[in-house]
Amino acid sequence: MSFTSLGLSKSLLKAIDKQGYTTPSPIQAKAIPQILKGNDVLASAQTGTGKTAGFTLPMLHKLSQTQPERRRAIRALILTPTRELAAQVHANVKAYSEFLDIRSTVIFGGVNQRPQVATIRNGVDVLIATPGRLLDLQNQGLLSLSKVEILVLDEADRMLDMGFLRDIKKITSLLPKRRQSLLFSATFSKEIKSLAGEFLYNPVMVETATENSTVDAIDQKVYRVAKTSKTGLIIKLISDGDWKQVLVFTRTKHGANRLCKKMEQARISAAAIHGNKSQGARTKALAGFKNGSIRVLVATDIAARGIDIPLLPHVINFELPNISEDYVHRIGRTGRAGANGQAISLVSADETSYLKSIEKLTGLKLPVEIVPGFEPDPNASTEPIKQGQGQGRGRRPQRSSGQSKSSSGRNRNSGGGSSNQNSRGGNRNRNRR
Ligand code: AMP
Repeated sequence: MSFTSLGLSKSLLKAIDKQGYTTPSPIQAKAIPQILKGNDVLASAQTGTGKTAGFTLPMLHKLSQTQPERRRAIRALILTPTRELAAQVHANVKAYSEFLDIRSTVIFGGVNQRPQVATIRNGVDVLIATPGRLLDLQNQGLLSLSKVEILVLDEADRMLDMGFLRDIKKITSLLPKRRQSLLFSATFSKEIKSLAGEFLYNPVMVETATENSTVDAIDQKVYRVAKTSKTGLIIKLISDGDWKQVLVFTRTKHGANRLCKKMEQARISAAAIHGNKSQGARTKALAGFKNGSIRVLVATDIAARGIDIPLLPHVINFELPNISEDYVHRIGRTGRAGANGQAISLVSADETSYLKSIEKLTGLKLPVEIVPGFEPDPNASTEPIKQGQGQGRGRRPQRSSGQSKSSSGRNRNSGGGSSNQNSRGGNRNRNRR
């Protein structure tokens, strides 16, 4: 299949060509024709599958079919859970609309609203936004959503998980009833289906290949190690391997900062990215990581969500996540676009139950190694680390009332976990690229 056969305009094909894409990814091949037909779409796709182009290309095609009015109004709204994802989606929208008369902008919190407001006043066709800042500006009467024709909820499962349900409801109540709505989510949980039932009209379900490629394509390895030896071991692995671009996950923000300092002391350039960092610091860290001036990016799960770094060779879990699905999200940062990636987990005794949950979820038995000099502590307790203590999962907005913690349908266990959840999750993850 080629992009030409999908019915996209010449200007879009030119932009696609400029990006170097030759073949639509599975999600694009399935979603684009449905969106072009005008259907509401419920799609399962996560970062790395080409989902952004999957909704952006047909959206731009449709918008460009009608001349914008002299006074431009927001005709397409894309909601994302995080600032990083919003910025990335905007970068994509800009790239794909290069040869079209379409203006776009992005708004998110944590930065001065004034430039954002000025751009919107000048007129934009496509607005990419995080829910909080959007409602903020709307409440101040600084933008109108009454002309929105297309709504996209990107990474909807994450939005629910972050407690944005009420915001989403408020925002959709401000949109015209007649519109096209697209919901993209890594999972089709009960909550996502209920959200879809509320906001989508007769949606077409789009699911990507049943064969898992992400998890299987990644070389995964566990190093059993004493908790106190983890820092020494990670420095040894990065130094000995002369790894240049390593994404490291910690469970807490403090842990991320601490590890960064140790890396710097070992003369390995590193930066942390988490919820306590300003937007400027995050952008700078990410840019440094992409251009190679920073070798190690230490991130918490929420901060790392949506980061688009193609062909990332190494991901290290300095600590295992207590939510098994986060493991799959984390290692999905490597092994993209057919390139082989390596995902390493440093596991101490108190993380044994997390490891078991992850193996259950992925259906894989992860190979274990021990590095001489960095052995596990035979006397350490295998009791899991207490939940809720400085988990440091980035800025987590208040959950809306009535939304339970389990509403994301994710495996939030602290031990062996429920086998039902695990096996469901396992199937879901098999569907991912
Ligand atoms: P996404 O899932 O939207 O985050 O996209 C992941 C990466 O795939 C991005 O770097 C895109 O630029 C890239 N990409 C999107 N569509 C294609 C395609 N059809 N062929 C090759 N790369 C693509």
